Amino acid sequence: MHFKIPESLVTEKSYTRAGWQGGYQSLTEEFDYWIDDIEGQIPKELKGTLFRNGPGLLDVNGQSIHHPFDGDGMISKITFSNGRAHFRNRFVRTTGYLAEQEAGKILYRGTFGTQKPGGWLANIFDFKLKNIANTNVIYWGGKLLALWEGSEAHRLDPDTLETLGNEYFNGVLSAGEPFAAHPRLENNCDQDGGASCLVNFSIKPGLSTTITILELNPAGEIVRQHAHKVPGFCFIHDFVITPNYCIFFQNPVTFNPIPFALGIRAAGECIKFQPNQPTQILIIPRTPKEGEEEIKILETQSGFVFHHINAFEVGDEVLIDSICYQDLPKVEPKSDFRQVDFEASSPGQLWRFYLNLKNGIVRRELIDGRCCEFPSIHPANVGRPYRYLYIGAAHAETGNAPLQALLKIDLESLERQLWSAAPRGFVGEPIFVPRPDSEKEDDGWVLALVYDAADHRSDLVILDASDFSKGVIARLHLKHHIPYGLHGSFTSEVFGEI
Ligand code: FE
Repeated sequence: MHFKIPESLVTEKSYTRAGWQGGYQSLTEEFDYWIDDIEGQIPKELKGTLFRNGPGLLDVNGQSIHHPFDGDGMISKITFSNGRAHFRNRFVRTTGYLAEQEAGKILYRGTFGTQKPGGWLANIFDFKLKNIANTNVIYWGGKLLALWEGSEAHRLDPDTLETLGNEYFNGVLSAGEPFAAHPRLENNCDQDGGASCLVNFSIKPGLSTTITILELNPAGEIVRQHAHKVPGFCFIHDFVITPNYCIFFQNPVTFNPIPFALGIRAAGECIKFQPNQPTQILIIPRTPKEGEEEIKILETQSGFVFHHINAFEVGDEVLIDSICYQDLPKVEPKSDFRQVDFEASSPGQLWRFYLNLKNGIVRRELIDGRCCEFPSIHPANVGRPYRYLYIGAAHAETGNAPLQALLKIDLESLERQLWSAAPRGFVGEPIFVPRPDSEKEDDGWVLALVYDAADHRSDLVILDASDFSKGVIARLHLKHHIPYGLHGSFTSEVFGEI
């Protein structure tokens, strides 16, 4: 007799810890080659460059870093042209990377727990954090920029990936002033007569916080800038935009600086989630008008958000889709991230928030309870109503687990399509690339790096975004692995003699 066991009762995991851990090994080598080990066919119309950023080193000369977020930024670049693909990777030559490679040891404290060797005495009152340039990479205004939210951007050569220096946007930003790692690119900006506009922010957390909104024109110049004081400590990684607003979720956390100052804990380890406090939603007008309140603050139930998917305005409401965790997983001084107990933490889940700007009421609904992270949408729909999203997801429908699958959700019909790389594959952030001259929102491709534990190397997979059930249409085997990364972007530009 056959009967289906509910997935929640299946105890066998879709992955092994040893397999998953393989993606957290350093990649020290820098490569430059045509990818020739390919299953399937790269679509001829797919032309442009995929840039990825993430921690390339999980150790400095054998000294382990404490958390992958503390790993030195390494850019990977895959260029698509005429049905072929070329790979290149380079570390961002930050001041810290160069100094530590030269010394052959850890010289800086990391935000997420990496301490200089020598115990608290070596770390006490050392507030010098390393700008590790490891979180995102964008091509905007003719500049390739590696981003890290704690400090300034690094500018790179988009062809060779050589580090050119820090980027201050013609002196509008000053040394050490942050340029966040989650800019939003608005395709059709009302304020700029329909030109595209890059909206980003700068945040310096403290006991009260200043959030500065930065809007850049297609030439890469900061054309609008306004600062806002927010009460309390903010741990904000991402935001969303609509044509009229920038919206931030101020997660309910407190920061106790004393253990950090004393060298006992890293800054990230001094952040404490407050489960009984609400999340504050900060709504900042993109064009502050005289006589209007500067920031509107609404409240919703507690939870923690790293990433939002998108937002848009409908009448008096703003709808925001976000990935919410029930709480913030603690980073503990003695813990090893490779031993994390997935089952002990709550999964990131997809929620939709409805903010009524008239009466201040916020309601929310769960769209998908499957563990998910790293969303992507059609780039033309940022800040606008949209239908499809693509996101990294766990293989199993319930529980918390590493991302092994790519999930497409149709937000109108709520139809879902899942492509899974389990048991030996672990996926990174997918990027949706529209087919040139396409009209349908899901006419294009989804590109993602997949770590293949079976061969300890990474593949770039290409899916037809309109139909995941076809499986991968091309799998490009790299000659090596790429450590699990964070964010990246695609540009239709091709650089150099390719
Ligand atoms: Fe992020």
